[in-house]
Amino acid sequence: MSTLPSLTLPKPDDWHLHLRDGAMMKAVLPYTARHFARAVVMPNLKPAVTTTAAAQAYRERIRQALPPHMTFTPLMTAYLTDKTDPDDLERGYNEGILFAAKLYPAGVTTNSEDGVTDIQAISHILDRLQKIGMPLLIHGEVADPAVDFFDRETVFIDRVLIPMRRNFPELKVVLEHITTRHAAEYIVSEAQISGGKLAATITAHHLLINRNAMFEGGMHPHHFCLPIVKSETDRQAIIMAATSGAQMFFAGTDSAPHPRTAKESARGSGGIFSAPNALAIYAQIFDEAGALDRLENFLCLNGPAFYDLPVNAATITLEKLAEPAQPLKPILTEEGQEILAFPAESPLSWRVVEKELL
Ligand SMILES: [Zn+2]
Repeated sequence: MSTLPSLTLPKPDDWHLHLRDGAMMKAVLPYTARHFARAVVMPNLKPAVTTTAAAQAYRERIRQALPPHMTFTPLMTAYLTDKTDPDDLERGYNEGILFAAKLYPAGVTTNSEDGVTDIQAISHILDRLQKIGMPLLIHGEVADPAVDFFDRETVFIDRVLIPMRRNFPELKVVLEHITTRHAAEYIVSEAQISGGKLAATITAHHLLINRNAMFEGGMHPHHFCLPIVKSETDRQAIIMAATSGAQMFFAGTDSAPHPRTAKESARGSGGIFSAPNALAIYAQIFDEAGALDRLENFLCLNGPAFYDLPVNAATITLEKLAEPAQPLKPILTEEGQEILAFPAESPLSWRVVEKELL
């Protein structure tokens, strides 16, 4: 008889996901829909999803791309620009089309050129979000070339986020994909005074690898993502935050597929496609930290509590493996592009028990 642990949990949600569009979306969407009931879908398409109408059309394309036997709820976001119309945001939010607004400082990541150039210039938009209770999701990095690449998150918190939250204390804010001890400590230190209005998501890959992984055996483009992976000290700090069970931390994979050719190039794109393995990675990290009893909080309960949504009724089972699982073969899009799932090399010691085949 096996004594390996297994866990049955409410079906998790992914609070930060990139689905892309077209053939790429069609190829990757089933991997998310298998393991997650809902996901907050990022709007950084080209052109970006900046309006309620564009979000509604994108939501429809996602629904069309979903295999008929699968259920999945996409939660749509609007990409803020200097020119966003607050009335359009409010209408989209009230009509249940928009779930949240997304702030990309201009230039920080894939397709963020049209993002916000100056946070002061969007005060009237933040004011409206605060008034109507619409969440603001933040890619928390500065794009200032004078700032060291590894300090972009820390500088963003000190230079942008702290003053912004002072001006808009009632604004519901999620600092996405935190990567540093500084960010984890900031979120914890604000827990009392924020009254549950500040939370952070943590990806699976930032929990699994540190920055050494980018250089192992030569430049490793499949470990390059934005925000960039940080030091082991930072990784340990975000593991502590995630596994603490604290309500203000929850899962957001930031799974972000790129064609293999775009990753393995002289200017490799930043982004890690983790959707097929994210739950297994989270389980492995919590297992190693002796915190399996808190995995449900992080994956299934904290997010819905923050967003005032019901916990999912469907369930999912995770199990520890006697032998580590071999990495997935590359996924092929209809257009013949290869996508590699993270981690492409390190075998995982947990897996999701699949009830249905793709
Ligand atoms: Zn992202």
